[in-house]
Amino acid sequence: MRLKLQITGIVQGVGFRPFVFRLAKTAGLKGYVLNDPDGVLIEVEGEKKKLDEFLIRIDKEKPEIAKIYSLQHTFIEEAGYKEFRIKKSVEQGDKRAVVLPDISVCEECLADITNPKDRRFIYPFTNCTNCGPRFTIIKSLPYDRKNTSMRDFRVCPECDREYHSASDRRFHAQPNACHVCGPWISLYDSGGNVICTKEDALEKTVNLLRKGNIIAVKGIGGYHLACDAANEEAVKRLRKKKDREEKPMAVMFPDINYIKAETLINDLEERAISSIEKPIVIVRKRETFSLARSVSPDKSTVGVFLPCTPLHYLILHKLKKPVVATSANISGEPVVKDEKDAFARLPDIADYVLAYNREIVRRCDDSVVRVIAERQTPVRRSRGFAPLPVIIPFSFKKPVLALGPDMNNTIAVGIDNKVFLSQHIGDLDTPLAMEFYEETINDFLELFDIDPGIVVSDMHPGYYSTKFGVRHFSDKLVKVQHHFAHILSCMTENEVPEDTGVIGFAFDGTGYGPDKTLWGGEVLIASYKGFKRAYHLRPYRLPGGDKAVKEPCRTAFSLLYETIGDEAGENDYIPLTKEEKSFFIKMIKENINSPATTSMGRLFDGVASIIGLRHKVSYHAQTAMELEQLALRSDETGSYPFSIEQNIIGHRPVIEMIINDLKAKVPNEIIAKKFHNTIVKMIIFIAELLRKETGISHVALSGGVFQNSILLENAYRRLRERGYTPLIHQLVPTNDGGISLGQAVYSRFL
Ligand code: ZN
Ligand code: ZN
Ligand code: FE
Repeated sequence: MRLKLQITGIVQGVGFRPFVFRLAKTAGLKGYVLNDPDGVLIEVEGEKKKLDEFLIRIDKEKPEIAKIYSLQHTFIEEAGYKEFRIKKSVEQGDKRAVVLPDISVCEECLADITNPKDRRFIYPFTNCTNCGPRFTIIKSLPYDRKNTSMRDFRVCPECDREYHSASDRRFHAQPNACHVCGPWISLYDSGGNVICTKEDALEKTVNLLRKGNIIAVKGIGGYHLACDAANEEAVKRLRKKKDREEKPMAVMFPDINYIKAETLINDLEERAISSIEKPIVIVRKRETFSLARSVSPDKSTVGVFLPCTPLHYLILHKLKKPVVATSANISGEPVVKDEKDAFARLPDIADYVLAYNREIVRRCDDSVVRVIAERQTPVRRSRGFAPLPVIIPFSFKKPVLALGPDMNNTIAVGIDNKVFLSQHIGDLDTPLAMEFYEETINDFLELFDIDPGIVVSDMHPGYYSTKFGVRHFSDKLVKVQHHFAHILSCMTENEVPEDTGVIGFAFDGTGYGPDKTLWGGEVLIASYKGFKRAYHLRPYRLPGGDKAVKEPCRTAFSLLYETIGDEAGENDYIPLTKEEKSFFIKMIKENINSPATTSMGRLFDGVASIIGLRHKVSYHAQTAMELEQLALRSDETGSYPFSIEQNIIGHRPVIEMIINDLKAKVPNEIIAKKFHNTIVKMIIFIAELLRKETGISHVALSGGVFQNSILLENAYRRLRERGYTPLIHQLVPTNDGGISLGQAVYSRFL
């Protein structure tokens, strides 16, 4: 494999390249290191295990004065380097200032705030040149204090001295602050009345958490709702108040050892948790997991992370216990970022509000990653990563704005060989979300000083994002098919050369097809220039359309009906009344509000409902996640048959055999596992057909369905065993959060 690292920070003129050279040489890795205008670019090749070790050691053993502000990495195909060398620096290139993401608090600042003799002892806004807020405090460029939300705070003489002293760690640290001159915290009751401030507020917050209260805590890019993660009652109350009955909530721990005591983590997961970005990492619970069950009910996994700001660090270290820290928003709306908003929107949820008097200029939710197939795969790319660019293997002819899709939205702007992806915006289905969406578009165009020559949207005529494009950019708008955009984004981050074709498996919940039906189980033969729909799932009907997304039992009934006909009206696999069943039959037969779909995501929903796992959902991809969890409990290797007729993949035999298994009382986890195995087998089988036909051996796996670890890991491994080059996501999410990258790239090859 080849490991590619793109590092920003103080990595030039500090002995970083010789350090990398030695590290690569001792490990016997080939490749290069070079300085580029933004930092350092490294490529090393060798065995995957050695590359993992290299990745971990970069951070642990780097020269003491080197500082890493961000580190994006991907494992991609070998380039065949013969030796390791230090390449000549890339001097010129884009002088566009890199807007850094928010950088988690550094070790030295932590030492300051825990040292009673230091003047910043327990000061929650301590930062230095190497750490602290960036993206969320910048109002405009250049990055000077007067252009940030620190402008409101007049520096004290001490801080000013540090700022002007070249030998000080805080030399030119724009948000530099201390007890005397910087922002401070205040604790409020839910009515907005101040209870106490500063140290007292910190002490009191910790005490209130200990007593089981729910506290809205102002973080770096928005508020969290926090409560004691070991207090079942408190967590339950938070769930109920947030109207979030089942969706797992993330837990912030005081330190890595505490995480190790509660969860089973491997080296790459530990690296991800401790990395400068401090994302939420989805990991396996230990059998002895001692926190509240309702943190992630009925799940073998939990999202964990470490404090990323001094404020969080201080709270956790005084409390000495993990806390649930979930985004403070009301179902589907953007996260709360202002005090005004907090008191207006949160009083029924939070018992208290811990705020501070520095403005959050833009929202930025926590990032979420998961290690699958021994790679860090993003579920949500936001704090710590946004707005870092994804470097692409070619250059745009004109600047592009990509509008993203309507679910899990991110937008992107592309210029030269860079695509700047926005922070997570979310689903565009509430007025507040739409407002945040439009703000972010204006924000990015301004921040990166881009006047787009072309604008790209999804094809879906009903999407808010498409309509936005039509309304504001009709003269330069082009539309790209959803699943093609998925595959393009996967190709780009894997640096597929311009003249290379791929077999693309785009499996997700839904996307608009050029034939005006809902696609989602698609196999494309694609290049950057275009695609052909080579295979797809057999279309089936969704009685009630969108309603079927929330009620998988509708999809289940449709699948049963097309498999066993009227008998579906008789049996009782799914809890529907006789009337409902005959109503659905009528809807399907007479095509009343029952759109046809080829969705793989819905097929997962339907199967989950048929086996009785879940008939109604409360959040995106819930059934798919639960089916995966169930399947993880089985080591079954068998699978179900499927059919291929012309270019249609038939799932009827799958449903038929599942019914047989149910009749034979085969345990659910075995059925779930066999179903997963079936999809993997399907991928391999179709890849073989297409490789024979076209000679293409690059296989891109993209779309939300590939967040499933069983599918992704097994498909990846088996493709590799058979000599394919499987391509998976490591820089942007495989779900719709990565679509904007594909959209931007689409504009380059028109
Ligand atoms: Zn620092
Ligand atoms: Zn000061
Ligand atoms: Fe999608």
